[in-house]
Amino acid sequence: MKALSDIGLVGLAVMGENLVLNMASKGFTVTAYNRSVEKVDSFLAGRAKGKNIRGAHSIEELVASLSKPRKVMLMVKAGQPVDDFIEQLIPHLEPGDIIIDGGNTHFPDTNRRVAYLESKGLLFVGSGVSGGEEGALTGPSIMPGGSPAAWEAVRPIFQGIAAKVEDGTPCCDWVGENGAGHFVKMVHNGIEYGDMQLITEAYQIMKVLLGLNADELHDVFAAWNKTELNSYLIEITRDIFAYKEDGEALVEKILDTAGQKGTGKWTGVSALEMGVPLTLIGEAVFARCLSAQKEERVEASKVLSGPEVAFEGDKQAFIEDLRQALFAAKIVSYAQGYVLMREAAKEYGWNLNYGGIALMWRGGCIIRSVFLGNIKEAFDNNPALSNLLLDPYFKEKITQAQAGWRRVVAAAVTNGISAPAMTSALSYFDGYRAERLPANLLQAQRDFFGAHTYERIDRPRGEFFHTNWTGRG
Ligand code: NAP
Repeated sequence: MKALSDIGLVGLAVMGENLVLNMASKGFTVTAYNRSVEKVDSFLAGRAKGKNIRGAHSIEELVASLSKPRKVMLMVKAGQPVDDFIEQLIPHLEPGDIIIDGGNTHFPDTNRRVAYLESKGLLFVGSGVSGGEEGALTGPSIMPGGSPAAWEAVRPIFQGIAAKVEDGTPCCDWVGENGAGHFVKMVHNGIEYGDMQLITEAYQIMKVLLGLNADELHDVFAAWNKTELNSYLIEITRDIFAYKEDGEALVEKILDTAGQKGTGKWTGVSALEMGVPLTLIGEAVFARCLSAQKEERVEASKVLSGPEVAFEGDKQAFIEDLRQALFAAKIVSYAQGYVLMREAAKEYGWNLNYGGIALMWRGGCIIRSVFLGNIKEAFDNNPALSNLLLDPYFKEKITQAQAGWRRVVAAAVTNGISAPAMTSALSYFDGYRAERLPANLLQAQRDFFGAHTYERIDRPRGEFFHTNWTGRG
């Protein structure tokens, strides 16, 4: 073991322990510390035994064990605990030392902490880490942002432990200044909400409308995973349908109320604040909220009725329509997520590398997929691409998928099956490609009741008009 450690890690819960083991397995020497110090001893005596890992029982001991510039990574509960550890560390660090927050922090907190630590001569990195417990151990997707001067010192460790794509490129690169890394991780989580919601809608339609059982659903997802939908989430969905308990699919015994920890909501709030139509992720968050109203839904189901469910036609052809609908709606979701990142870059002055972000998500994380390779290509071909729907590859794909997508949405609506993400994505698509929307009437209404004025199509932009709609003085 080296005399001084390459990095210190604070927070020995699932993520922290696994990151320490990952770093040690790549040849880095790590000092581990935890608020409840007994966890340090049990870790050293257990999973860390015989590895390049030393323990610290105080912040002083932790800092003293590190080579310079010192790097301390926090993998603790987001929020106040991060600020508390920063305050404990500051008196022991020297200018140029680096504090890294790898938790699921809301990006405004990272903006604030970068400014605060830089004012003290220290450097701060706020990094998204995705891939869950297993990814942390075997290779996560890592999205670092913050003080640019910290990157060269952090790069070998982060790129060393990150997941790699087929050609060996790490799923980790510098995202941008201040809270850019945590912002991109937040959008990643929002997109994860959207992908999961789309899969659940496909499941519901196949179960309710086509009457497919778990074994048949397993087969459909297995087949879909061999197409352009190939992804981690489709793969685990395939496996979920194969998992049996007492001969029955476990998934059907699970209560239908979804939990959430807030990153999807943050993504939606950011979109509302920046005026970006992020409809699919918004619907995915609201769908979880609706699912959580279980008791009320049970009561409503006794009172409110819908149409009889009836399917006529070719099931296999409809399943292919459904695959197309899922694919098309997924394109819309990523298109919207990228527009949000572009707006944030403008608002916060970040120079985001959009192809690089797709590459970071290509492996290691929950939304990893073949599809992200196509997104990377789209932005490599045109870094200034304003909307993914305008990229030639995605334009062609969504055009091909359109007819099937419309048939699925129509079938869901006609049969009373809730599919908010697929349907709202289609509405967005039709709105985005509309040369004229009915917002002219909206402007007339606003002018009528509030004298908010309007522009005219027969006059230059920037000239505003008001009409006395009632003729009254
Ligand atoms: P966690 O349950 O979020 O946090 C547990 C760690 O935080 C423990 O080390 C705990 O110390 C420490 N902690 C909690 N409250 C504290 C306080 N008031 N003061 C000081 N320390 C405190 O652990 P996790 O699931 O491993 O996640 C760590 C971070 O990574 C979180 O921000 C999480 O959101 C993020 N993350 C998690 C996942 C995942 O799949 N779990 C994936 C990506 C990112 P004690 O042992 O002393 O209680």
